[in-house]
Amino acid sequence: MHYQFSVKSPQQQFIQIKATFKAKEDVTILEFPTWRPGRYQTADFAKKVKHFQVFEKDGKRLDFIKISKSTWEIDTNGVKDFVVDYHFYANELNAGSTFLDASQLYVNPVNCCIFNPDQIEGEVTVELDIPSEWDVANSLETKNNKFTAQNYDELVDSPFICSSQLQHAFYEVKGTKFNLWFNGIIKPDWDMLISDFVKFTDKQIEKFLEFPTKEYHFFFQILPYKAYHGVEHKNCTVITLGPSYAVFSELYKELLGVSSHELYHTWNVKSIRPIEMMPYDFTQENFSELGYIAEGITTYMGDLMLYKAGVFNLDQYLNEMNSQLQRHFDNFGRFNYSVAESSWDTWLDGYELGAPGRKVSIYTEGCLIAFIMDVLILKATKNKKGLDDVMRSLYFNFGKRGVGVSESDYKDAIKNVAGDSFDWFFEEYIHGTKAYAALLVDCFETIGLEMNHEPVKDPVAAWLGAKVIQDNKTKVVAIYPGSAYDLAGGMLNDEILAINGVKVNADLHRWVDYFLEDIKAFTVERNGQVLTFTIPVTNRPFYQRYWLTTVEKPDKNQVNAFDGWRNTELGGRGTKELHV
Ligand SMILES: [Zn+2]
Repeated sequence: MHYQFSVKSPQQQFIQIKATFKAKEDVTILEFPTWRPGRYQTADFAKKVKHFQVFEKDGKRLDFIKISKSTWEIDTNGVKDFVVDYHFYANELNAGSTFLDASQLYVNPVNCCIFNPDQIEGEVTVELDIPSEWDVANSLETKNNKFTAQNYDELVDSPFICSSQLQHAFYEVKGTKFNLWFNGIIKPDWDMLISDFVKFTDKQIEKFLEFPTKEYHFFFQILPYKAYHGVEHKNCTVITLGPSYAVFSELYKELLGVSSHELYHTWNVKSIRPIEMMPYDFTQENFSELGYIAEGITTYMGDLMLYKAGVFNLDQYLNEMNSQLQRHFDNFGRFNYSVAESSWDTWLDGYELGAPGRKVSIYTEGCLIAFIMDVLILKATKNKKGLDDVMRSLYFNFGKRGVGVSESDYKDAIKNVAGDSFDWFFEEYIHGTKAYAALLVDCFETIGLEMNHEPVKDPVAAWLGAKVIQDNKTKVVAIYPGSAYDLAGGMLNDEILAINGVKVNADLHRWVDYFLEDIKAFTVERNGQVLTFTIPVTNRPFYQRYWLTTVEKPDKNQVNAFDGWRNTELGGRGTKELHV
C-alpha cells in the first residue's frame, strides 16, 4: 500500500489523500478504521471522508459501492493497480486526532488511512507533499518527505507532525535515544525537562530491565488554550497540553504525569496487551475486561514512578492519589458496576459522564485496585516484591513474545511472585462491587499512611448533598443518593432560584451557610416551571473530602513496608522519607 498526503488550501482543513492498492480479485474490499488504540470507543472516522473516487493507474474511473458505513467494494475486474483519491477533514486537534491548517499537518494515520484488510501485512510507503519550510517529526525515519512502515499496524501506530515550528532535543538512557519534540507556542525549559525525564525514564527501565524499542519520541502539541491529553504508541506518544504559558509552571506536574503514564504504556498495553486486542481489529469493537490492567496499572505506575525516581516528593505523589480517592468516593457507580464491567463498556459510554451512578472509571478504580494489589503482594513477600515484579514477568513472558495477556495469565503471574493469586480479591472487587474503603484504609496503614476525611468545604454539597455550579445561574450538577436534596425531590439540572424565599445571586453557598440550622425551602426552576419544595432535616454530612497523610509515629513494620513499597526488590536504595 502507498499513501500520498497533500495539503492544498490548508485553510479548508481537508487533506488530499491518494492511496494505491494492488487488485487481486474482481472485487476489492477497502475499509476505514472505526476506532483507534488508546480510546476504546467507536469513532467511525469514515464520516470525515469526502470526494471519494477510485481510478485505475491510467486515470480510468472504477465503479464502487459502499456496503457498510466504513466499507467500500471496488469493481477491480481486470485491474492490477488502482488509486483511491479522497479528502479527509482534519479539523480536530487532540492527542489522537488529525489536524491541518496553514501552520501544520498533524496526522494520526489510524484516523485517515483507508486499507485493504487482505494486504495489511505488506510494506507501506508514504509520501508527503508539504511546504518546503516544514520539518517532519516522525518515529519512522523520514527522508525527502518519504517514509516506510513495515506493515499497516506500524503505520497506524506512527503519528507524525509536519510544521515549521518544531523544536527538538533528546536524551539517552541505557542505550535508548528519547526524542523530545515541541510544536506550537512554547519556550521549553530544556534543562529542567531533560533532568526530570532522564530520572523517570531510568526508573521505569530499571523496573522492566530493558526498553522495548531502540528509539522513542515524545511529541508535545502545545496549545494556547486549556488542554490535557496523551495517547500511547509503541515508539512514541503524542501529548497535548495548554495553555502554553502554564506548561512549564502550573501545568508542569501534569506534563510529567502524562509523560510518565504514556512511557509506561510502552510496556503496558503496547507490549503487554489484553488478549482480546491481539492483534487490534480496526473494523469493530475489541471488547475486554482488562482495562483495569491496561489503564489502571498504568495510571498507578505513571505517578508512582515519578515518586520512585525522586521527580515527585511524597506530598506531590499523595496529591495525585488524593485525586483518585476523591473520584472514587464521589462516584456512586461503584455500587452498580464493577471495574471489569466498566472496562467492557468503554465502547458504550466509557468517555462520557453517562447515566449517573451507572459505571466506574477504569483509570481511577484500576489505579486504586493496582495499589491494593501492590500492597497485598508486598505483605505476602515480607516487603520484598510488588506489582513491579508482576509487570516485569508479564513483559518477558507475554509482551516481548507478542502473546496477549488474559486475566488468568495476570493471576498466574501474581501467584508466581506472591505465592497467592488472591482469587477473593478478583471476585469481590474486580468483578464485584463490594465496597473497598476498609481494604484501602488497611493497605494505606500497612505502609504508614492514613486516609482522612471530612465534609467538603462547600456547605451545599456537604450538608444538602447537591453539587452546584454558579455563574449566571446556579445549576445542580450532581446529587448524593439519599441526601437531603435527593429526599426533598431535587433533580439534576435544577436551577436554584431562592432559599427560604430569599433570591440567590451566585451566592447560594453563603445563604446555605447562613441558614444552615433552619433551611426549610428551596425554590427552583425545572424544565420551565418554578416550584418550591421542603428540605428534610438530616444532620449528617454527604460529600466528603479525602486525603492521605503519613501516620505520626510509624512503627517498625510500617517503615519496612513503606521502604519495600517504594523500592521492591530491584529498587535498590532504601528511603527514610517516612521517618521525617
Ligand atoms: Zn493511558
